Amino acid sequence: MSAALDIRSVTAGYGAEPVLHDLDLSIPDGQVVTLLGANGAGKTTLLRAVSGLMPTTGSVHLRGRDISRLDPEQRVRQGLAHVPEGRGVITELTVDENLRLGGLWRHDRTTLRQHIDAEYERFEPLARRRHALGHQLSGGERQMLALARALVATPDVLLLDEPSLGLAPQVVHTIMQTLRQECDRTGLTVLLAEQNAASALSVADRGVVLHLGRIRTDGPAAHIAQDDALRHAYLGY
Ligand code: ATP
Repeated sequence: MSAALDIRSVTAGYGAEPVLHDLDLSIPDGQVVTLLGANGAGKTTLLRAVSGLMPTTGSVHLRGRDISRLDPEQRVRQGLAHVPEGRGVITELTVDENLRLGGLWRHDRTTLRQHIDAEYERFEPLARRRHALGHQLSGGERQMLALARALVATPDVLLLDEPSLGLAPQVVHTIMQTLRQECDRTGLTVLLAEQNAASALSVADRGVVLHLGRIRTDGPAAHIAQDDALRHAYLGY
């Protein structure tokens, strides 16, 4: 069976010198992979390369299909979702409008409403604030909205960049648990870039440590969480 996401020999960067060097990473269906690494290791660059947001050599396959030559929008239509760092919520629209935009292209109105209602059940604070504008939300509410909007589109593969940044521990916990439950329930596959290694590894199947644009370690999340030498050398805590 083909992997949910298969990254092969990917090299990418912003100028003459690549940030990612000939990187390979294959993720089976339903797996949560936490991508770790110090500032500048290349985590954001890798997610952007998978999404088609920067010039890249090598290839990216989504459920066996080569998406390397598709533009970012076409990749989304193939079942990829990307929640960028900084969250990507449209601040001039309401919570409900943001959610509708998330799934408009993928579902008919009735199905879309069902998916949105399911997200309101999951993220209670969003239900209470469904008519609030994006800019009126707290950081935690915005992150929930960004995640809910991605899930409304029922993607096959979800890329998340630093979802815990600046959030209270309780919100981080909710977000991590949601990801785990969704993967177990629907077979969603997640690639999660995080500096907050402990909370991300606690829900992950696997941890991948990037260092200077190369994979330094790839193994079971529980092993990586307990590896003190690795933490000191590459994760800075
Ligand atoms: P962080 O956690 O700080 O976001 P990261 O692991 O996500 O780190 P990247 O953001 O992928 O790392 O950055 C990798 C390298 O690419 C760094 O050396 C960074 O300075 C460089 N870089 C990132 N964005 C740009 C850009 N827009 N233009 C030029 N260089 C960039």
